[in-house]
Amino acid sequence: MTLDVHIVPALQDNYVYLFRDPGSDAVVVVDPGDAAPVERALAERGWKLTHILNTHHHVDHIEGDAPLVAKYGAKLIAPRGNRGEIPGADQYVDDLERVTIGTLQFQTIAVPGHTRGHVAFFSERGEAVFAGDTLFALGCGRMFEGTPPQFWDSLSRLRALPASTRVYCGHEYTLSNARFALHVDPDNAALVKRAAEFEALREAGKPTIPSTIGDERATNPFLRADDPELQRRTGTADAVACFAALRKQKDSF
Ligand SMILES: [Zn+2]
Repeated sequence: MTLDVHIVPALQDNYVYLFRDPGSDAVVVVDPGDAAPVERALAERGWKLTHILNTHHHVDHIEGDAPLVAKYGAKLIAPRGNRGEIPGADQYVDDLERVTIGTLQFQTIAVPGHTRGHVAFFSERGEAVFAGDTLFALGCGRMFEGTPPQFWDSLSRLRALPASTRVYCGHEYTLSNARFALHVDPDNAALVKRAAEFEALREAGKPTIPSTIGDERATNPFLRADDPELQRRTGTADAVACFAALRKQKDSF
């Protein structure tokens, strides 16, 4: 059954995600960078938080962990590679582990690149992936700790998920990503159409999230680094080099 995910805007441009397992009393929040908006969203719905998922250790994704654990006694699930930065989690996860919350099942996917320990949480039945700062709508995260081969491999694994999978990412960076995508891939008709749709959504004050893996495959340049046309434009001859060139160009775009 498709997961009913509620978007909770937090801090400057972060998105925190909240959902409830209809088959149990479990209520889950992903990457609470700030506790206050999560507490408000829970109170509005009359829900009691039971679980917190962290995709990586950056402070704008974990700052709400401690107050939410203290207030609700929620269980914390975090990347094993971030044991040092996120101490005291109830469960640490790495690649291809199963996370069971009530009747919900998630598979973890290790996606190093933005940070070394970064994981994504994928629900096949729920048709959703929580991608943190690895994959954004029309973009990807900055490469703070990983290498281009690692980051390309991580994005390739996300790209291989079913096309209908909805992508819940950590930030509303879509319009800025769209400008860069149009700059490097101007003849991509699907991209031109999506960029216009995103423009309209933001003008209406709505989030551009979630996108889908199918749409990202067709329009996100960072998932298309193996495309001959993008390689020609970046003067590269393979996917890793093309990805590295795109990432470098975007850093100063
Ligand atoms: Zn981050």
